[in-house]
Amino acid sequence: MSELSDLYQELILDHNRQPHNFHGMPDATRKAEGYNPLCGDQITVYLKLDNNRIQEVSFEGKGCAISKASASVMTDEVKGKTPLEAGSLFEKFRELVTQPKEDQPDKDELGRLAVFSGVSEFPARVKCATLAWHTLHSALEAQKGVTTTE
Ligand code: ZN
Repeated sequence: MSELSDLYQELILDHNRQPHNFHGMPDATRKAEGYNPLCGDQITVYLKLDNNRIQEVSFEGKGCAISKASASVMTDEVKGKTPLEAGSLFEKFRELVTQPKEDQPDKDELGRLAVFSGVSEFPARVKCATLAWHTLHSALEAQKGVTTTE
């Protein structure tokens, strides 16, 4: 087992203290809210989708360090991507935080998201780490009338 301090690596703590893209977006074209009842994490994700690209993305909310840091890193990583690219990154991230280390995707493909690899050893934290991604997914799917409960 990793030490708990491995989970709270410095980058995660930095993003928790000073989250990136942490603000509302009055002219967002998409918006979704997410809630993780297990931990009490709440998040609203805002998007500006143009030419099938995520031109702007931001979030607001409150929650634990993992949920906030994950949302912060996510907004950095998905900005400029197409919804399809963001979706495939979500799949990789989900594998990262749910699979044992030997089955996790290549760290090179994950960039800064790789700091969350320790989450896989703390199953109760998986929902914290993926909340922002589920909420982003809801925002991207909103036009099709799909609602998720995450
Ligand atoms: Zn949490």
